[in-house]
Amino acid sequence: MTTINRRDLGKLSLGGIAAAGIGTATGSQAIPGVASATDNTPHSAHVTGIANRPADLPAAKGHRVVVVGGGWSGMTIAKYLKVNDPELDVVLIERRAVFISHPISGAWLAGLMPMEPLMRSYLDAAAANNYIFFNASLIDLDRAQRKVYTDQGWLAYDDLVLAPGLDYDYGTFGVDDPTAVNDLKTRYPAGFMSASEHISLNAKVRNFKGGTFVLTAPPGIFRCSATPYERACLIASVFKREKIAGKVVLIDPREEPAVKAEGFLAAFDELHSDTIEYMSSTEIESIDPETRTIVTGFDDIVFDDAAIYPRIRGARLLEYLGLVDPASAQKEAAIDRFAYNATPGGVMDEHVYLAGDCRPMPFSKSGNTAYTEGKYLAALIAARAKGSTVAWESPQTICYSIVGIEPMAGIMVRTKYKYDATADNWDYEDNFAVHERDREKADKAFEWAETHLDDMFS
Ligand SMILES: Cc1cc2nc3c(=O)[nH]c(=O)nc-3n(C[C@H](O)[C@H](O)[C@H](O)COP(=O)(O)OP(=O)(O)OC[C@H]3O[C@@H](n4cnc5c(N)ncnc54)[C@H](O)[C@@H]3O)c2cc1C
Repeated sequence: MTTINRRDLGKLSLGGIAAAGIGTATGSQAIPGVASATDNTPHSAHVTGIANRPADLPAAKGHRVVVVGGGWSGMTIAKYLKVNDPELDVVLIERRAVFISHPISGAWLAGLMPMEPLMRSYLDAAAANNYIFFNASLIDLDRAQRKVYTDQGWLAYDDLVLAPGLDYDYGTFGVDDPTAVNDLKTRYPAGFMSASEHISLNAKVRNFKGGTFVLTAPPGIFRCSATPYERACLIASVFKREKIAGKVVLIDPREEPAVKAEGFLAAFDELHSDTIEYMSSTEIESIDPETRTIVTGFDDIVFDDAAIYPRIRGARLLEYLGLVDPASAQKEAAIDRFAYNATPGGVMDEHVYLAGDCRPMPFSKSGNTAYTEGKYLAALIAARAKGSTVAWESPQTICYSIVGIEPMAGIMVRTKYKYDATADNWDYEDNFAVHERDREKADKAFEWAETHLDDMFS
């Protein structure tokens, strides 16, 4: 029996408005053998083979900005660099060949739309915006030489933006055994990182024969704080529509949903009380994938199927490159909080920027946040390339969640942030939520996703 023990889940300390994920994360530990951000020696590359030859790409025609990561952050930055200054030479490096959106994937999970609108071509985006799409994986970085190494060869940059997103941290469930981690990832994927996870989850819901379907919300700040709650509503709606005798158990360490709490609690109570069991203030102590048992502080929950979402952390790549903030419990990037320059060991690198979900600021890890932040950062980098600058702008989080499908009903939240220098903390500048569900807000979820995807890819 492989038992996975919970460990240290309660140790994440977030100041400010903790339930909504606002504050300062503290408490990380050094990883043996991995370059630490307190060591300010620039990481130098040690690559051989195909990675150690120039990539087969057109020569730079001007100031070259290399953007790594074709998610919501990198796609916005690559496009808006060119919008701000068409003379910039922009290369987008992305390891996936096809973009598949996380946002609005819940509607596909619930059978409300086909997969196709979620899929976009990186080639179309590159052609429309006159930048180079390089389908490769970043494997190393030489900041002193200003070179990135990929599995398809190296290229030089004038400025570099890293937007590699996140990884799961199964270690926070106390999972040290790679077999147990692999079991959880493969059999009960969270559905928060890759398209394969979404496809597996979709099949699980479609083929569910009845019984208990467990979802978990992780501790800390996590990617898309509305999604576990929206997903519970959508899966419950599918069970009802397909007449599946299933119950959705949502396990959450928080007292109430991390965002739009009033709206989600009302939906659980008024629309899904026969299907959703919301277990708030419940911490997972161990998971046994063999017996399909989750041990919590209160009860043992035996499940028939599950999507288990562990705590998230900044992409592992950043740790390898020595670009992690030692004060970040979730191993996010070490950056200047307004200019987004890398600050490993407290020393600013004027030519390396980090953005998107891997940022250490406690903003909501959402597509709209990454998109608005990306527009600001693209303007800043383009201005700096001409010896100028732009004023800092807060990113904006906008999130519509579908909480019922027959009839369609949605809720929403819109947030901006401000920095309190005295408290050295972040707070809301604007935090506006509409908890009364209606058709219009459900429709807006589709409209928002389509508008933003169209903008990034055309
Ligand atoms: C199910 C779900 C629903 C969501 N719904 C919403 C919503 O309704 N509204 C909203 O605003 N947000 C939503 N989000 C959140 C949103 O998807 C993320 O916040 C957003 O994708 C973050 O963008 P990013 O670019 O930082 O990271 P990502 O989108 O993860 O992009 C990172 C990219 O970097 C690439 N990469 C990583 N390492 C390398 C490497 N070494 N070399 C090359 N490429 C690399 C990855 O392949 C990936 O394409 C949702 C998320 C999920 C999972």
